[in-house]
Amino acid sequence: MKINPNQLDRGYLKFKNEFDRAVIKTLESGWYILGKEVEKFENHFKEFVGSGYCIGLNSGLDALILAFRALNISVGDEVIVPANTYIASVLSITENGATPVFIEPDEFYNIDADKIEAAITEKTKAILVVHLYGQAANMKKIRAIATQHNLFLVEDCAQSHGSKFEDKTTGTWGDIGCFSFYPTKNLGAFGDAGCIVTNNYEIYEKIHMLRNYGSKVKYQNDILGVNSRLDEIQAAVLNVKLEHYNELKKERISLAETYLNKINNKSIILPEIREMADAIWHLFVVKVENRDKFQEHLTSNGIGTQIHYPIPPHLSKAYGYLGYKKDDFPITENYANTLISLPLYDGMTEEEIMYVINVINRY
Ligand SMILES: *Cc1c(COP(=O)(O)O)cnc(C)c1O
Repeated sequence: MKINPNQLDRGYLKFKNEFDRAVIKTLESGWYILGKEVEKFENHFKEFVGSGYCIGLNSGLDALILAFRALNISVGDEVIVPANTYIASVLSITENGATPVFIEPDEFYNIDADKIEAAITEKTKAILVVHLYGQAANMKKIRAIATQHNLFLVEDCAQSHGSKFEDKTTGTWGDIGCFSFYPTKNLGAFGDAGCIVTNNYEIYEKIHMLRNYGSKVKYQNDILGVNSRLDEIQAAVLNVKLEHYNELKKERISLAETYLNKINNKSIILPEIREMADAIWHLFVVKVENRDKFQEHLTSNGIGTQIHYPIPPHLSKAYGYLGYKKDDFPITENYANTLISLPLYDGMTEEEIMYVINVINRY
């Protein structure tokens, strides 16, 4: 049997008729940028997360970049960020000229809240939390730290659509929640897309202008903006998917539970969920000491896997100028060397997941 790490066409085929109808309707409407579909999505999504405002944007990275721009974070400022994250989180800080201050992860692969306070300096302006792999970070504690030290709190929710900590959805704990709808994300479009959510009207108004050349009224440019608009076709696709999101979420949780209940190989360390945190299983990540050998075992049995992420941002060539070296963040580096993501996608069948589990248990 051949199993890919991801199988995006399954997600399309699940609701093919609805997607086809929505896309064609948009094409026939003659209106392609910032129209009814974007507005409908923004209204629906802000309700979905329980936030006051939503602004559709071009990508998750743009959402993060514009979040820090709206908060006036720039040269000379420091932003606290998990060392164990996708590089986009860090790029959003450096793109604004600010300096990332890395924090090691806890056993749930998210930022270790107990290590944040020691990293706060005079220059610290914000904490960027990433709800990695779909599991909410330790938000109660992090919210308290941000409030106590008067820091902005921004959430990277690219992997956590609808995931909660206690009964509050990720994206609503901070000043701004940033989402990606890249096709592989749990709520994925068929192209690039993203958004921010916030309860703050001033932030809303600023990012609303920033995304469209800094203008509120056409050809009146009040601030220096960019072009980061969500287009009508992607919004129409997202409107269909959001209608079915609860069903998709349930399916993923059930797949993850199958992995959790049926993998019984002692050399595979299964993911754990923090008390009060919720996981929507963007990825199903296991820890294996001899990862290359394990990956080879799966590959030779037709099973594709991925590594999220093999090189932590502080060791990437791009951030060489920050001057970090190997062993600066040993926990993060250990994760980079031992974590591996098993296949998980919308429409994965019982037969497929049982095949993966059997191959893993034979390792
Ligand atoms: C995907 C992702 C992003 C970036 O989203 P894009 O839409 O690809 O720009 C940012 N942060 C994390 C944690 C991600 O997984």
